[in-house]
Amino acid sequence: MSQSTEQAANTAFASLNLKPGLFDNLKTMGYESMTQIQAESLPAILAGDDVIGQGKTGSGKTAAFGLGLLNKLDVKRFRIQTMVLCPTRELADQVAKDIRTLARGIHNIKVLTLCGGVPMGPQIGSLEHGAHIIVGTPGRIVDHLDRNRLDLSNVNMLVLDEADRMLEMGFQDHIDQIIAETPHERQTLLFSATFPEQIQQVVEQIMYKPLMVKVEATH
Ligand code: ADP
Ligand code: MG
Repeated sequence: MSQSTEQAANTAFASLNLKPGLFDNLKTMGYESMTQIQAESLPAILAGDDVIGQGKTGSGKTAAFGLGLLNKLDVKRFRIQTMVLCPTRELADQVAKDIRTLARGIHNIKVLTLCGGVPMGPQIGSLEHGAHIIVGTPGRIVDHLDRNRLDLSNVNMLVLDEADRMLEMGFQDHIDQIIAETPHERQTLLFSATFPEQIQQVVEQIMYKPLMVKVEATH
C-alpha cells in the first residue's frame, strides 16, 4: 500500500455503518468508493455531528449529506424530519432526484420539493399528504411557514446546500426564519464551494461545534 493511501481517510463505503438498503443502492449506482469530501465528512455526519463541507462543484457533496440524512431518517415516522435548503429551483430538483435515487426501493420515503415559480395550491395539497424530507428554496419555504402550512417541529436534520450562493442571493433573513422554526437539538450540515465571512457568522449562530472538512481537488 502506498504512503498516500495509508494517510488518506478510508474511502470504502463498507467502512461506514450504513443501512443495508443504502449500501446496496450505492453499488447499483456504480459508486465504488467515497470521494474525498464524503470520506472525510461521512463518519462525523453519521455520528450525528454538525459538519461544514467545503469543496468545489463535482466533489460529491450531495451524496455526503444525502446518505447522512437517509441513514438518520426514521421511515416509520411519517413526519418532516429533514429540511434541505438550496439556492435555486434547479438545484433543489437535482438534490431531490439524487436523494430519491439513493433511497430507491428502501421504503416509501417521501421527498417533497417546495420551490417558487409554481402555484402554492398543489404544494399545500402535497404537504397535507405528508413527507419525510423537504427540499426547497428559502423564499417558498417561508411562504408556507407564513401560512402555517409547514410544521418543522419534527426536523432533526437541517442541510444548507450551496450556502455561499444562498447568502449572495440575499436569503439570510429567510434562512434565519426557517431555522427559528426547527428544534434546537437538530443536526446541521452546511455545504459551500467558498467560505466568505458572512458564512462564518451564520455558522456561529446555527451550528454546534462543527467539524470543518475542506477539500481542494474535485475527487
Ligand atoms: P457537488 O454537489 O459537490 O457539486 P455532486 O454531489 O453533484 O457534487 O456530485 C457530482 C457527481 O459525482 C454526480 O454526478 C454524482 O453522481 C457523482 N458522484 C458523487 N459521489 C460519487 C462516488 N462516491 N462515486 C462515483 N460518483 C460519485
Ligand atoms: Mg452540490
